[in-house]
Amino acid sequence: MTDLTSLTLAEAREGLADKSFTSLELTDAHLGAIEAARVLNAFVMETPDQARAMAREADAKIAKGDAGPLAGIPLGIKDLFATKGVRTTACSNILGNFVPTYESTVTSQLWRDGAVMLGKLNNDEFAMGSSNETSCFGPVGNPWRRDGSNATLVPGGSSGGSASAVAALLCMGATATDTGGSIRQPAAFTATVGIKPTYGRCSRWGVVAFASSLDQAGPIARSVRDAAMLLRSMAGHDPKDTTSVDIPVPDYEAAIGKSVKGMKIGIPREYRLDGMPAEIEKLWSEGAAWLKAAGAELVEVSLPHTKYALPAYYIVAPAEASSNLARYDGVRYGLREQGKNIIEMYENARAEGFGAEVKRRVMIGTYVLSAGYYDAYYLRAQKVRTLIKKDFEDCFAKGVDAILTPATPSAAFGIGEKGGADPVEMYLNDIFTVTVNMAGLPGIAVPAGKDGQGLPLGLQLIGRPFDEETLFSLGEVIEQAAGRFTPARWW
Ligand code: GLN
Repeated sequence: MTDLTSLTLAEAREGLADKSFTSLELTDAHLGAIEAARVLNAFVMETPDQARAMAREADAKIAKGDAGPLAGIPLGIKDLFATKGVRTTACSNILGNFVPTYESTVTSQLWRDGAVMLGKLNNDEFAMGSSNETSCFGPVGNPWRRDGSNATLVPGGSSGGSASAVAALLCMGATATDTGGSIRQPAAFTATVGIKPTYGRCSRWGVVAFASSLDQAGPIARSVRDAAMLLRSMAGHDPKDTTSVDIPVPDYEAAIGKSVKGMKIGIPREYRLDGMPAEIEKLWSEGAAWLKAAGAELVEVSLPHTKYALPAYYIVAPAEASSNLARYDGVRYGLREQGKNIIEMYENARAEGFGAEVKRRVMIGTYVLSAGYYDAYYLRAQKVRTLIKKDFEDCFAKGVDAILTPATPSAAFGIGEKGGADPVEMYLNDIFTVTVNMAGLPGIAVPAGKDGQGLPLGLQLIGRPFDEETLFSLGEVIEQAAGRFTPARWW
C-alpha cells in the first residue's frame, strides 16, 4: 500500500469510499507522522485519543453508507479556533490552559461533515506575525530548506503550524485564518494552497479575534481541489456572527477543471516593486503565460492606492486588536497575576501574559484611537481603506474577472533573520496580501515554482466578492502547469 500520508484529500476520499483503507488506518498514519516530526513544532497539542474515536465513528458511518463529504479525513486545527474540551490558547501565555466549553462554528461544520481532529496547530501569538516566531510555544520549522543548507527556515505566519503540517504531510488539510495574509503567505512559503475567502463567507464565531473587520477563516491544503472541498464545509451563514453572509455555499469543487477561456485577468502595475527579486518577476510572467495558454485574456490594470495599503493596515489592525484584546484582564480567562489592587492586577497579568509583538500592537492601537489622534490616524486609515476597495471595484467594473499577483515579495527566510531590529522589515512581507483584506475580497495562493535555492514560491489570484469559484478554476490551471511540490524529508 502507498504511504497513506502522501495522498491528497481527494484521493483519500476515494480510498475510503472504495474501502482500500479505513479512516482509523489513515488517522494512525498521520498520528505516526506527527510523532516523527515533533522537531517542526507544528502541533502545540496532539489529540490522538479523540482522533481515533472520531475515525472509528467515521468508519462506522462509511460502512453504513451515510458518510459526510469529509468523512474520515484527518485535519489539523489552528490554535485560534475554539475547540470544545480541548485547550485553545491562540499561542499566548495570557490564555494559559484555557479550555473552551464551546466549539467554533467553522470547526463544528468540519466535524458535522465527518472530519477527524488530529490536534491544535501552532501560530503567531493572537495571529500577529508573518513568521510564526511570536508564538509562546516557540517557532515552527518549515519542512523546506535551501538546497545544500541545514538552516531551519520559517514557514511564514501567522498560520505557520497549519502550513508546515500540511506541507510535511502531517495532516491532510488544516484550518487557518487570514487578517493580512496569514493563510496566503505561509501557503506560498511551503508550497501549499491557501484561500482566504470573501469577508463574511466563513463565520468568525469561536475564532479568537485579532482585527474583526479583517479576520477570515479559510483552509490550507495540499491541492486546489482539496482547498475547495474544505472551504465548502467551512463556509456558510451563521446567525451567531452578524457579519457572516446569508448566501448559499456553492459546490466549489465543481469549479475545478472548468474552462477559463475568455476570462479577463488583470495584472496590476503597482505590484511591480522596485528591487523585487528577478525570480518573482519571472514567476509572475510565467503564471500569466499559463493562464493565457488556457484561453484567458491578460490586461494591465491599475490599483493606484496600493502603496497606502500596508501603512493603513498597520493602523486599522492594531486599533481593532487593542480593543479586542482588552478582554484579557487576568480575571475571566487564563493567566492570573497578583497585585495590590485591581488595576495593578490587570497590569501584571497583561505584562506577564502578552509577548512583545502583541504589546507593540496594543500600544500602537491605543495610540491611534486616542483622543486627538483618532482623526489623524484611525479615521484617515479608514478613508484610505475605502479608496483601496474602490480601486478593486473599478477594476472589476471594467470586466476583469480576477487579478494575478505574486503572493509574497520573497521566498521563506531563516528563523531570527527578519524583524529583530526593525519590525517594519517583517511587516513588508504582507505587501501583496493586505490589500485583499482591506477590500474584503477573496484571494488564493497557489504554488507556482521555486527560487534559485530550491525554495517554493506562490502566486496569488484575487477575485470578486463571493466569487471563490473563479479562483479555484484559475488556481487549478496554475497547479496543472506548475505541478505539485513536496519537500525532501529531513526530520
Ligand atoms: N502578518 C500580518 C500581521 O502581522 C497578518 C497576520 C494575519 O493575517 N493574521 O498583522
